[in-house]
Amino acid sequence: MKIICIGRNYADHAAEMKAELPSAPVFFMKPDTALLKDDVFYFPGFTNEIHYECELVVKIDRVGKHIDPAFAHKYYSSVGLGIDFTARDLQAECKTKGLPWEIAKAFDQSAVVSSQWIPITPEAFDSLSFEFYQNGTLKQHGNPTMMLFNIDQIIAYISKFITLKTGDLIFTGTPAGVGPIAIGDELVGTLNGQEMYRIAVK
Ligand code: MG
Repeated sequence: MKIICIGRNYADHAAEMKAELPSAPVFFMKPDTALLKDDVFYFPGFTNEIHYECELVVKIDRVGKHIDPAFAHKYYSSVGLGIDFTARDLQAECKTKGLPWEIAKAFDQSAVVSSQWIPITPEAFDSLSFEFYQNGTLKQHGNPTMMLFNIDQIIAYISKFITLKTGDLIFTGTPAGVGPIAIGDELVGTLNGQEMYRIAVK
């Protein structure tokens, strides 16, 4: 199983990061060891600045490569909610030096994925909406119509380069409102009004 994450897929988040809008989807990967195993995130010692990025996560349920966008909807049937934890200080250093992002994005516990999955049809996808709360305060909200590249375009693009397999997860990018977490925080994500995860930061 692999985790593929799309960057800069919401214009408002690209703007807050002072990043250019991409002309094709930008993606990077996290290993399966990045998955958070339970509801507690232990703040790691190698960074002083971890940001939450709440994202819709799509689970791939068929093997495919060179998938045509018109058929991409046949490769998923459920959606979850996640957090792409990012060591923003390390990422800034990588960006400055032109280095890959793995130390900032692929570390242990950096991928939160809800244990629940909501069945989804292609027609209903755009009506999804999600929220992210830090200590009870709404910090992020989004829906797929805000994405620069929709899920079918994303699947088609990734599969030009990398074979998608059953169980692979695609993080679809985060809207504006990202920010730092601190020990003691409680992080809650909701999808269509339903609580999908509740994470304690220790
Ligand atoms: Mg992200």
